[in-house]
Amino acid sequence: MSTLLEVKGLKKYYGTRKEVVKAVDDVSFAVQEGETLGIVGESGCGKSTTGRAILRLIEPTEGEVFFQGQLLTSLKGDALRKARRDLQIVFQDPYASLNPRMTIGSILEEPLKVHGIGNASERKAKVNKLLQTVGLTEAHFDRYPHEFSGGQRQRIGIARALITQPKLIIADEPVSALDVSIQSQILNLMKDLQEEFQLTYLFISHDLSVVRHISDRVGVMYLGRLVELAPKKGMYETPLHPYTQALLSAVPHPNPSEKRERIVLTGDVPSPANPPSGCAFHTRCQACMDVCKTERPALKETADGHFVACHLY
Ligand code: SF4
Ligand code: MG
Repeated sequence: MSTLLEVKGLKKYYGTRKEVVKAVDDVSFAVQEGETLGIVGESGCGKSTTGRAILRLIEPTEGEVFFQGQLLTSLKGDALRKARRDLQIVFQDPYASLNPRMTIGSILEEPLKVHGIGNASERKAKVNKLLQTVGLTEAHFDRYPHEFSGGQRQRIGIARALITQPKLIIADEPVSALDVSIQSQILNLMKDLQEEFQLTYLFISHDLSVVRHISDRVGVMYLGRLVELAPKKGMYETPLHPYTQALLSAVPHPNPSEKRERIVLTGDVPSPANPPSGCAFHTRCQACMDVCKTERPALKETADGHFVACHLY
């Protein structure tokens, strides 16, 4: 497998006169072609900001993003637009991003027009084929977003992301707004599409069970930092970071032999405007040592492909 996406030292700081909010604070990871890398963490941990900064939907404060070896963070205008053909996003609530006055057909045709792909009849044929691929029909071409259910809208959101035949999809909480029964339909659709079109996913979610279902590797974020990164099996069976251990202790296990004692985290998540010194988790960590209060732990490899940022290791 080759590396498709590489994120190096990514930072997104928001400054106000009084304080600096470190939404993403020095995050590095790589995504291999054809894999699904899940990114989990509680709301406000910076996972969505990371996804948007990679796509340059928001400008990173610092850091580099390489996509297919090309430095995305230096691209402008046409070059950036061209790169975006290969790099798409699926949002949590597609409804909010679907123009209510446009038909599904014209919504899906729009990216093709922007990128100058095909003539009118070729575009229409492409859209109709894709509608079927995502489980909708040609009859939906002339319908409007409000006529669809939540699950169908997410199928439309996925189709819109796929229409330019991208290599990488950043999916930001794509099933979080859906009923559990619909969630698995959409996740299975995403898996089928991945196989059919050799897609690579960066899958962002607060839901550890959903991430487990779809990912090959998993990264855990806390307060703008990546604290653990590992193959799925290692992450779910032998989590190393005390924060990951606490998160996982709270989810029901598909395999009862994995059941571990519930670790209850005390205290609120500190504000990213004023993150704790040293290890950002030290205010809530039961294993906290003196060094944790002053020195930020680096993300280090402890076993084959299992990385953790914690002074215990
Ligand atoms: Fe806990 Fe220290 Fe590890 Fe942070 S570095 S998670 S405070 S043991
Ligand atoms: Mg989010």
